[in-house]
Amino acid sequence: MRAIYEKYAEELDALKASGNLRTLSSGLHEGRWILSGGQRMLNLSSNDYLGLASDTALMKEFREWLRDTGKQLPLSSSSSRLLTGNFGVFSALEDTLASLYGREDALVLSSGYHMNAGILPALCGKDTLILADKLVHASLIDGIRLSGARCIRYRHQDYGQLETLIEKEYSGCDRIIIVTESIFSMDGDTAPLQRLTELKRRQDKIMLYVDEAHAVGVRGERGLGLAEETGCIGDIDLLCGTFGKALASVGAYVVCDRVIKEYLVNRMRTLIFTTALPPLNMAWTLFVMERLSGFKGQRERLQRHSAQFRQALQAKGFGTPSESHIVPFIVGQAADAVLKAEDMRRKGFYVLPIRPPTVPEGTSRLRFSLTAGLTDEDMDRLCDSI
Ligand SMILES: *Cc1c(COP(=O)(O)O)cnc(C)c1O
Repeated sequence: MRAIYEKYAEELDALKASGNLRTLSSGLHEGRWILSGGQRMLNLSSNDYLGLASDTALMKEFREWLRDTGKQLPLSSSSSRLLTGNFGVFSALEDTLASLYGREDALVLSSGYHMNAGILPALCGKDTLILADKLVHASLIDGIRLSGARCIRYRHQDYGQLETLIEKEYSGCDRIIIVTESIFSMDGDTAPLQRLTELKRRQDKIMLYVDEAHAVGVRGERGLGLAEETGCIGDIDLLCGTFGKALASVGAYVVCDRVIKEYLVNRMRTLIFTTALPPLNMAWTLFVMERLSGFKGQRERLQRHSAQFRQALQAKGFGTPSESHIVPFIVGQAADAVLKAEDMRRKGFYVLPIRPPTVPEGTSRLRFSLTAGLTDEDMDRLCDSI
């Protein structure tokens, strides 16, 4: 090893010693199963919440749909959307999103990471204050850092503290952007969007930014997310979602007013300086989006599974903050979480330990993410085994 690498190697050794070393595991996918280390386990770490990513019938339907449209859809867009990469399927998808949400416009981005790393740096000025929930996703944290704006993180879901901060800081800034997730990725709890939109409506200088990465497809009558379920779509300035989880594709979107979209197109570096997504993938996203309201059966199954599992945990004396299909089982120490995950894998359930820095020290956990593809028997077995 080159001497100059030694510092990295030592750090890795320390991570290993504390149970925090991460590796890229290679499992083979087979429907709701995952094959790894000669074992077949139920995949309880997938974001394929509706089971669409492994729905072969749906993929076959897509290929037929493609053939019928007779469209030439390249596998690469070969440039940024600002140059020659803006294929027709982008506007078709954005029009569909705007019309589903009943909002002026939408902007499609290359990933949720691009979305969150790019929106705040574009929209914040030197007198902007960001108020963000303590537990927002790493991509949002990076966006906050890149924005260079002043930011205060309020205690997770502590809206009393948020209101106090607004009162105290309101007169000293041009604009406040409140940043939250709707379903939080690590605790699986849900933000009270009604309360946040009411708060915002009372003040002219507040914008609301909601990341629905885990709620899109899963919540709301038509699968548009928690904003739909709680009747808040029209009141969220930046209503964001991703295509890579329940929607079984790749990319992300923000639903917003036209002026905001136009501004982002001019100022958002993670949109301007990256190659647009491949048109073929965008067509698949459009195909899934157009059918989203029809996946109601899957949404209902997932709600049933989630309620059953949360109740099973509670019945065994394990509290969980979850109010969704993401159900953490909080163990405490990182090394214990690793052992517990290994135990579950031996029993045939593929679940991963989540450790610092992803979650706060002392709250290492197994993070179960349930999907509609799981059968009732799978769920009974899981509830018995935990
Ligand atoms: C997964 C996730 C992202 C990142 O989305 P990608 O499309 O995978 O880059 C952003 N925000 C939240 C809350 C997420 O869970």
